[in-house]
Amino acid sequence: MTVCYPDLKLRIDGEWLGAGTRRRHQVINPATGTTLGELPLVQGADLDRALEAADRGFQVWRRATADERARVLKKAADLIRERIDYIATIATLEEGKTLAETRIEAAATANLFEFYAEELRRTYGRVLVRPTGTRSLVMKEPVGPVAAFAPWNFPIANPGRKLGAPIAAGCSVILKPAEEAPGSALEVVRALVDAGVPSGVVQLVFGVPDEVSRHLLGSSIIRQLSFTGSTAVGKHLLALSANTAKRTTMELGGHAPVIVFDDADLTRTIDLLTMAKTRNAGQVCVAPTRFYVQDGIYDRFIRAFTERLAGINIGDGLLASSQMGPMANPRRPAAMERFIDDATARGARLLTGGEPEVRKGFFWKPTLLTEVPVDARIMNEEPFGPVAVVAPFSSLEEAIAHANRLPYGLAAYAFTESAKRAMLIGDAIEAGMVGINIVVMAAADAPFGGVKESGHGSEDGPEGLQECLVTKTIHHA
Ligand code: NAD
Repeated sequence: MTVCYPDLKLRIDGEWLGAGTRRRHQVINPATGTTLGELPLVQGADLDRALEAADRGFQVWRRATADERARVLKKAADLIRERIDYIATIATLEEGKTLAETRIEAAATANLFEFYAEELRRTYGRVLVRPTGTRSLVMKEPVGPVAAFAPWNFPIANPGRKLGAPIAAGCSVILKPAEEAPGSALEVVRALVDAGVPSGVVQLVFGVPDEVSRHLLGSSIIRQLSFTGSTAVGKHLLALSANTAKRTTMELGGHAPVIVFDDADLTRTIDLLTMAKTRNAGQVCVAPTRFYVQDGIYDRFIRAFTERLAGINIGDGLLASSQMGPMANPRRPAAMERFIDDATARGARLLTGGEPEVRKGFFWKPTLLTEVPVDARIMNEEPFGPVAVVAPFSSLEEAIAHANRLPYGLAAYAFTESAKRAMLIGDAIEAGMVGINIVVMAAADAPFGGVKESGHGSEDGPEGLQECLVTKTIHHA
């Protein structure tokens, strides 16, 4: 397929900026290892200009009417839908996941913008009861310029999440998406620019991540940090934000447990879990990782799951025949190898996969491990890849103890036909999101986020808008 890959640019203070004398980063197609384009990286002066523009942009946008903000978000949603084939193809080229997946991502981003175009009208305050002639008003105001860092695993939806709620709230944003997948983020920003977002409201920057985050988070212009990525990087950015006491929304790593009870509908459960484990080659923060299966169906589950994972058709995400694309960058297959070697050296059994798919690009075969000791790295660190670890359990209490063992608390899943068990498990699990007989965790109107070391705050839903607002109380005598 011939696709016109976008000319990669920065967007600062209403201007698209090319490479000029700036440093460049090679963007690689993970399915072939070939170069897609050259990305300009910001210099310090660019970031200073972005900060000044964001400061000015905020003063304009905070005063815009609800109609003006809603019009921009609605129009951008329409443009993303019109351009869906192009945007989805760019994302597949850059990140590797299948076209079916990137189309869903683009559609979800349009839905999110549309949801916030409506939700922004419900930024209500309160009037408190006071003696006649006096008032106390509780006001909600936009927090201010936001520094947002989006990772590569959802190249369209992550930038969309970082922009939708702040723009709805009346904030300006400096967005630094991942350097691995810049074209998709650029197209999301282009939709907003074409929809008429005023200059200075959205800046798009790329650079050396640590340089950019230190520069932006060191500035008192930035009032809010919004980060999605690993727990380790998240803690580092929280420390940088502490100096200026910024507000933070942190969507960090996960290690999702799945509890499959004896009474689960096995065929449907395996269908859903195969899809969830291989979606985006497992590079999803809510991907199921530790599968705890009750004794009575353990053997049948293992047989069926092994067969399904082994049968996944791996290939270039642009091909309709591919069910799973490559991993996003060469770091990921290397990490899979280390996790699997560590587990098997400690006595784990490898039932399928465990090796790269031999072809160009960064492909890894869906892998299933059993009998993995609890101290193996993969039982404790986020694998972020298509590797499943399955272990048996007997009682509900035992399953809950396994599920809650780690410091992570992002997503968790349970499969059962018993309403009572579903209720108990929903209450007992320490996670920001629990899926009972379902694996889809994201929707425009539903809060998305974790607890414990998986972060704090929410994206999406009314809660995502609240993250971008601060409270002011005005007392009138
Ligand atoms: P990484 O931790 O180096 O990077 C993760 C993301 O954070 C990337 O987008 C990167 O550009 C950004 N980042 C890294 N250092 C930064 C800094 N100092 N300032 C600002 N941004 C910074 O790891 P990686 O190899 O790119 O990805 C692998 C790991 O990242 C995975 O193991 C997974 O835990 C995590 N990850 C999580 C998510 C998520 O949705 N929660 C998404 C992508 C990656």
